[in-house]
Amino acid sequence: MRDGIADQRWCCVLFWVAHAARVLAIADFPKDCFGETRALPNRLSRGFNQRCNCAFLHDFLPVRRAIYPGSFDPVTNGHLDVIERARTLFDEVIVAVAINDQKQPLFTPDERLAMLRQAITIDAVRVAPMDGLLVEFAASEGAHAVVRGLRAISDFEFEFQMALMNRKLDPEIETIFLMPKEEYTYLSSRIVKEIARLGGDVSAFVPSLVAEALAKKFNPELGNVAAVI
Ligand code: ADP
Repeated sequence: MRDGIADQRWCCVLFWVAHAARVLAIADFPKDCFGETRALPNRLSRGFNQRCNCAFLHDFLPVRRAIYPGSFDPVTNGHLDVIERARTLFDEVIVAVAINDQKQPLFTPDERLAMLRQAITIDAVRVAPMDGLLVEFAASEGAHAVVRGLRAISDFEFEFQMALMNRKLDPEIETIFLMPKEEYTYLSSRIVKEIARLGGDVSAFVPSLVAEALAKKFNPELGNVAAVI
């Protein structure tokens, strides 16, 4: 008889604990305690609205960091679109500017870094110079993913080859391809430089400071590039 009463009490306690947990799960608890700053890994995110800024959980969750490498000579709206998309998938994105690229860049590494830093307005995106192997840079930054933009089939062959080679060099690093908005699929730094060189208007394709820097690069009479960045 006493055991029966004790069982009933336990059942009652368990019922209320389960009920309270359910109420918290569907009420404001996820929004208040698991707000906007950090995405949870998928496995943990179910039921937590995908995002978490709970300081307690932060200490336990690994930061998901990705590298977005390129020459960014100069940064275009297409690059910025890819950075924004990458930021919705990763806690932190490092935009790595290749400083010893085999391409002959128009802008110096410092100019490219400065333009990127000014053009990027979202949080948790860092711009850094990169010299040497991408996989080594990624490992030194504690990143497990490389983000690349895919505009068209023409990008695919080179990107595919590079992704597989990077995987061979470091199997722990995954390459992720992101497609920009349709209006940016035909955009490249090379084509923007070509238009600017011929005196065309590039303001629809690049941030305004980049448009100004391009104008000055091709027409030094307008002033020094350093004045705009
Ligand atoms: P580009 O190929 O224009 O010289 P980068 O070498 O700086 O530019 O490219 C860095 C990465 O950004 C590459 O993965 C490239 O495919 C991608 N990318 C460049 N322009 C765009 C764009 N308009 N939309 C999406 N991805 C892009």
